[in-house]
This record gives sequence, C-alpha cells and structure tokens, in this order.
Amino acid sequence: MRIETFGAKAHFPLPLYAVYPDYKVSFLSTMIPYKHMKVDVLIIGGGGGAYPAAFKLAGSGKTVLMADPKGVLGGNCLYLGCIPSKTVRELIEINERSGRLLGSKNHADFSSIQKHKDDVQQIRFDQHDREMSEFKNLEFLKGTVSFTGRNSADVSTEDGKVSVEFDYAIIATGTVVSRISFPGSDLCITSDDIFSFGTAFRNIPDKMVIVGGGYIALEVAGMFHMLGTEVHLFVRTETVLRNVDQDLVKIAYPLITPFRVHLNTSIRDVTGKRGKLKINYTENGEDMEMEAGEVLLAVGRKGVVPDGIDLTGVKYSSKGIIEVSDTLQTNIPNIYATGDITGRTPYFHAAVRESLVAANNIMGQHEDRMDFLNVPVSIFTYPPVSYIGILRNEAKEKGMDIVETSYAMSGDARAQMYEEQDGEIRLFFDRKTGRIVGGWVVGLDAPELINEIGTAVFNSLTVMDMARFPDQHPTTNEGVSKAARAWNGPE
Ligand code: ADP
Repeated sequence: MRIETFGAKAHFPLPLYAVYPDYKVSFLSTMIPYKHMKVDVLIIGGGGGAYPAAFKLAGSGKTVLMADPKGVLGGNCLYLGCIPSKTVRELIEINERSGRLLGSKNHADFSSIQKHKDDVQQIRFDQHDREMSEFKNLEFLKGTVSFTGRNSADVSTEDGKVSVEFDYAIIATGTVVSRISFPGSDLCITSDDIFSFGTAFRNIPDKMVIVGGGYIALEVAGMFHMLGTEVHLFVRTETVLRNVDQDLVKIAYPLITPFRVHLNTSIRDVTGKRGKLKINYTENGEDMEMEAGEVLLAVGRKGVVPDGIDLTGVKYSSKGIIEVSDTLQTNIPNIYATGDITGRTPYFHAAVRESLVAANNIMGQHEDRMDFLNVPVSIFTYPPVSYIGILRNEAKEKGMDIVETSYAMSGDARAQMYEEQDGEIRLFFDRKTGRIVGGWVVGLDAPELINEIGTAVFNSLTVMDMARFPDQHPTTNEGVSKAARAWNGPE
C-alpha cells in the first residue's frame, strides 16, 4: 500500500531546530530524528476534528504537532467510513438506475466497485498530503499519542518514542465500532471489514444477516440488497433509528427497508465458518435458526480516549465520551476535544466546524462557539433521509407553535426523470415569527437538499425569504421554495 511509505518517518518541512528551539537530536541515531519537541499545540488524531485546526493554527503562525497511527489524514471517515461507503453507494446506485431505466444488464462487479473505492481514498490521502506540505510549522507523525501530564505527552512511532511539551492540546481521537460478545461473535464482520482501505472483502455474499437498527446497519443493508444479496436485518428493539423523530421514521421506513426486517430479535450464537454460517437467534421470544454467508455487526460506536488521560484531569464517561462546552473546551482549560469523541454530533462536517471553533479559541482573537443544534444529518439509504433543526416531535415536547409545509416528491421534475418519486420535503416554521426552525427530506437528493434547508435554519430565514428565492429548474431544490410558498407567513 502506498500509504505505508508516507508519513512513516513523519513529514518535516523545515529542519526541526529552525522551528523548535528545544529540539534535541542524536546524530548517532539515524532511525530516530529527534526525541523531544516543544510546540504551541498538540493535535491528537488526523481526522475531521483534527486537521482543520492544525491547518488554521499553523497558518496563523503557531507551531503544531499532529499525530495519528494511520499515518494519513482523513481519520476514520476517509479510511473506513463515510468516503468509502458513499463511493460504494454511488456506484451501486448508478448500476441500479441503468438497469431499471435503460434495461442494461446488471454489471455490478463488486471487486471493481471496491477498487474504485480504494482509488478515491488514495486520491484524498494524496490531496491531504499536498495540503499539509504547504504549512511550514506543522509536523505530522505516524504514531499514537498518550498523555504524560497536563502539558506533556509521548508519541509512540514505529521508530521510537517522541516526548512533546505543549501549551494546548486538541483531542480528536474519534470512535471505533462497538462489538457485542456472544458465542461465535468473532466470526462476524463489521463495516470496517467492508470499507477499510485495501480491504480483502471483494465478493457479494448470497445471504447476509445485519445486526443493528442504526444508520450504518440500514445503509449497508440497502447497499447489499441492491447488489442482489438476500438481506435480513436483526433489530433488538421495536423500531429502527431510535434517535430520529419517529414521525419521520414512519414515512421513511417502508421506503428504506425493501429487505426482511426482524424486529425484537437478538442473536444467541453463530457457528460454522465465514461463507457458511449458522445463526441461532430469538425473534419475538421464539428460538429460530438461519444460515447466511456473512453476519455483520453494526451496533454502534464508542469513543477512543488517549492513554494517560487521567494524568490531565480531563473528564470522560465510561463510553469514552469527553464532555465539552460550546467553545470545545474540556474541564481542563488548555485541553480541547473535537469531533466524534465529544459524543455531540458525530458527523465529519460537524467535526470540521468544531475543529475550527477550537482553533479560533486557542488563537484567542475572538471567542467562537459551536452551534450543536443546527447540524444537518443524512442517512444514505435508498432513498436517502435527511433532517436538520427542530422537527415535529421536538417542537411538540417544547410546546412550540409550529406551522408545517411540505412538497411531495411525486410532483418533482427530476424525481420523475429518475422515476424515484417517493418521499417529501417538509419544513417547520415558528407560527409567530415565520422563521424556519427545522426541516426533513425523504427522497431523491435529500443530502443535497438539506444543505439549502440547513442554511435557512442556521440563519433563521423567514418563510417569505425562502418563498422569494427562485430555486433552479429542474433540480429537486425547487421543492424547497415550493414548500415555503405553501404558507403566506404570519398575519
Ligand atoms: P473525528 O471525525 O472526530 O476527527 P475520526 O474517528 O474520523 O474522528 O478520526 C479519529 C482519528 O484519531 C483516527 O484516525 C485514529 O487513528 C486517531 N487516533 C485515535 N487514538 C489516537 C491516539 N491516541 N493518538 C493519535 N491518534 C489517535
């Protein structure tokens, strides 16, 4: 893998003694170029919560050390999460559409899909490498950080340990998949096995059991269903997407689950070998068994707290979540935490903004705060589901007086072109002020549409502001202004 050669000995744009006065070097050791560094900011991790702050701080003249054991930027999102899974999803969608609309044969060759996924990942690793090389006082190490104090840490690299003193630290260590344990659980795969860079997973299973009721379980189930796999989704509870407005889930559920869903179902054990597994499970209290080629566990993610954190006094929960204020500061003033590790809004785009908020606050020119409420969320099923802000049930709980407007996808020109006319755009306005507080989209282009709705929510636009905007024809965005035009606004 090309990435093995990148970052292994770090990326040193300047001789270190030029940047770090405390830099000590052993000329006897060619393997370890230095052992001690002093920097303004240590950034732990290389994902969306990490590198935007690194670039911003380094660009403003701070000395920055960033470290990640992957040796590449992009974090879990790029290495095994959003980018690879959405690349695969796009190709599956192209294949499905060309089959359905043009009558072309099913050409889905999963190994080509996976190769394209790896290529996209490599393009982005290289892109980040180029971006990083533009910053003179930013160093990146392939290594794992552990704290040794409130202002000190060690980075374990392949070439040995580097000790670091810092004024500020940003913990952006993200999350990893949670595994549940039952006899044979080691025979099960996770989304990491399917989407990791260079994965060996290149064949489509005939039959697959997917365990979980969250967005990852639903997305993967949808993809393999479209590839022709017989998918069985095992959900422990009575509903999917438990953290999402259940009225939205009711609309989406029949559209996004064209495969078999087993509610109130949990696995007892798995035996056999991958490719031919026997699954014993309990469904609605009844013992059952099934055979399948693969069992995929998608039962959530948990935070990764760096070793030695107790030496800093930073508080964290048993689930590995570090609590932060909206300035992204932990309970220890010189230590910030950003991204998924904060357990607030676990999405790459939120991590990027949080990273910049932390950087702005460390630079100290003006105080910056994260708006955790108004972050768009998308579930990349077929069709996709997106939402932002305050939706129907939250408005009810808060006792808000809301006006709802909607536009059905059945009337949309672009949806008609694709013959994908299921779903709707729905907007929620405050009755008194006419300002938009939230919205959801189920259907074609939902993740794109929620950006327009999200911009309106983020800036508290009124229904008239939105109604006056001439959204382009023929894009699905037209439905946003059409939905707004359905209400004349407050009297
Ligand atoms: P986020 O989007 O919140 O930045 P990600 O999960 O995408 O989170 O990325 C977190 C990154 O942090 C991963 O690439 C992981 O390898 C890295 N990481 C985890 N623990 C450590 C550690 N102790 N030292 C350095 N990097 C770490």
